[in-house]
Amino acid sequence: MAAKWRAFKLCFLILLCATLFQQFWTDAATIEWDENGYILYCPCMGRFGNQADHFLGSLAFAKLLNRTLAVPPWIVYRHHAPPYTNVHVSYSEYFQLEPLRAYHRIVSLEEFMEKLAPKHWPPGQRVAYCFESAAQRSPDRKTCPMKDGNPFGPFWDHIGVEFDKSVLFGGMSFSPYSQAHWIKRFPASEHPVLALPGAPAQFPVLEEHVGLQRYVVWSDSLAQEGDGLISAHLTRPYVGIHLRIGSDWHNACKLLQNGEAGPHLMASPQCVGYDRQTASPLTMTMCLPDLAEIKRALKLWVKKVAAQSIYIATDSESYSAELKKTFKNMKVVSLRPDTAQVDLYILGQADHFIGNCVSSFSAFVKRERDIHGKPSSFFGMDYPGKRRRKKDEF
Ligand code: GDP
Ligand code: MN
Repeated sequence: MAAKWRAFKLCFLILLCATLFQQFWTDAATIEWDENGYILYCPCMGRFGNQADHFLGSLAFAKLLNRTLAVPPWIVYRHHAPPYTNVHVSYSEYFQLEPLRAYHRIVSLEEFMEKLAPKHWPPGQRVAYCFESAAQRSPDRKTCPMKDGNPFGPFWDHIGVEFDKSVLFGGMSFSPYSQAHWIKRFPASEHPVLALPGAPAQFPVLEEHVGLQRYVVWSDSLAQEGDGLISAHLTRPYVGIHLRIGSDWHNACKLLQNGEAGPHLMASPQCVGYDRQTASPLTMTMCLPDLAEIKRALKLWVKKVAAQSIYIATDSESYSAELKKTFKNMKVVSLRPDTAQVDLYILGQADHFIGNCVSSFSAFVKRERDIHGKPSSFFGMDYPGKRRRKKDEF
């Protein structure tokens, strides 16, 4: 009996040691310092769609400089509902961190601050890097505007960072043309942490970075929530539509009406083409579809995919009463989730998606669907990507 008990205790001890060792080992593995340096930035321009475009470009830039990207939290503007302020949502709440590693080295900004910053980027040594032009606005014309105004101040406060010094640069961009310039100007040995006031990327996302969307994979919790809503409220096949028709959007589309827009307006390269010379015309219907266009496009795709239901994601009005009248025997659903990403998920899973050409919120859905070979169209453009041929072109 005593021998058995001793054996049991020994087993238990071995198990405990193994668990502790594994714990220690994985912790140590995730907090190893990267001698190639880091890139930190604030996703300080625009709401989710803009931040997502910028994220893809920043990921590519980190790879270009061979530095680890500190993945920032999303900034969510909750000024219309509690807590009536900016909320900082960890990347991993909406998406998984792990799939990003198939493309490049990353660490969440939160983990960087918790595990690496105390030793390798301690207070007193926190340098801000910005364009000379950005520093021009400061009183001494030499200080990066890292924490000036909203959302800049609240972001770095949330992360717990004060900046001690500024380093200015000019004559370089975030494109591959400047790669050598960056590496020569800021070797990781002297400049281990490049902290930037904004994303080192373009808006909208460059064509060559659109495919990086494949590394942006939904978190289990968000996917579960989305799948639950789909099975509770919708019958497949369903058509998902994104209505971007609120008052801010009326203002954006006015640029087009007044002829001030040029060939591209915000996310429109996704449907008119990235090349400014050959871009197909961007119409007012594409920017701001009216109810007649919404019905027309829906009728077309509902018929084509033999849809049983329609899902409406909207920034304002849903037109569900009107659409229920037109599509009498169908489920017409608009859930207006508190978390906008739930709408993105449901649109991503639709059997057909009709988006807004100019919206980066729609662009997120379109990119994700393209990766998975799912069909999409836009209001005012039923067959994107198949450019209408000019008469003399074959
Ligand atoms: P863009 O302005 O359309 O390019 O996209 P952004 O994402 O930058 O800004 C629009 C914001 O409005 C989104 O981030 C959402 O917060 C909100 N929004 C727009 N359309 C929808 C929608 O269909 N559903 C939900 N839930 N929110 C939306
Ligand atoms: Mn926007």
